[in-house]
Amino acid sequence: MAQVAITNVAKAFGPVKVLHDVSVDIADGQFVVLVGPSGCGKSTLLRMVAGLETVSGGTIAIGERVVNNLPPAKRDIAMVFQNYALYPHKTVEQNMAFALKLRKTDPAIVAERVKRAADILDLAPYLKRYPRQLSGGQRQRVAMGRAIVRNPQVFLFDEPLSNLDAKLRVQMRTEIKELHQRLKTTTIYVTHDQIEAMTMADKIVVMRDGRIEQVGAPLELFDRPANLFVAGFIGSPA
Ligand code: ADP
Ligand code: MG
Repeated sequence: MAQVAITNVAKAFGPVKVLHDVSVDIADGQFVVLVGPSGCGKSTLLRMVAGLETVSGGTIAIGERVVNNLPPAKRDIAMVFQNYALYPHKTVEQNMAFALKLRKTDPAIVAERVKRAADILDLAPYLKRYPRQLSGGQRQRVAMGRAIVRNPQVFLFDEPLSNLDAKLRVQMRTEIKELHQRLKTTTIYVTHDQIEAMTMADKIVVMRDGRIEQVGAPLELFDRPANLFVAGFIGSPA
């Protein structure tokens, strides 16, 4: 059974249709990358999985539940955004603990989860610092830490590396993959960068203009692209 099942999903903003009949199944533990040019509907699709946008047609299921009408807090997902969205007046530790405290989690469990996330992400020395006292890569790790402490069924990433310089981007790719190998949390990762998609994905979903062009493992898409768009997109330099 799919951990996340996106079935015949459509999205319209008023009269404008931005997603048409999109279906993707994501297996438990899989790392799936949604890739495609800017404006093709990647973020909208991810935000619908997160519950931040309503679904205009079709169903989204997480585990055994159809979640179309569930608010984000009830979906057992954690999302990492491009701009990190850290709280500037909270320390690293407080940033990571905040979502758990909101949910009235036992303080001992909060402390243990924050410690574990800090160890995994090499943030232990920085727990008392504020976001402005951190490098870009460290801030991105704090954003990931906030997702990890919640132990979600699914991680959602929306272009998490696009604000980083090229060298750091390559390093963080590796870190995110290592994190996935360690935690095996089902992940949906959005990027417009085909190199990122090729190096990180178990399965790539290539999108264009609100539709899926092809779904497959990186090498499959490279060796047997379904059409010229996929060939051009996957084959072109970053
Ligand atoms: P991507 O993440 O692939 O760049 P988006 O999902 O952000 O693409 O956007 C897909 C399309 O939907 C774009 O044409 C965008 O302008 C439009 N869109 C996104 N959000 C809204 C919104 N809140 N209202 C109207 N149109 C939107
Ligand atoms: Mg986007």
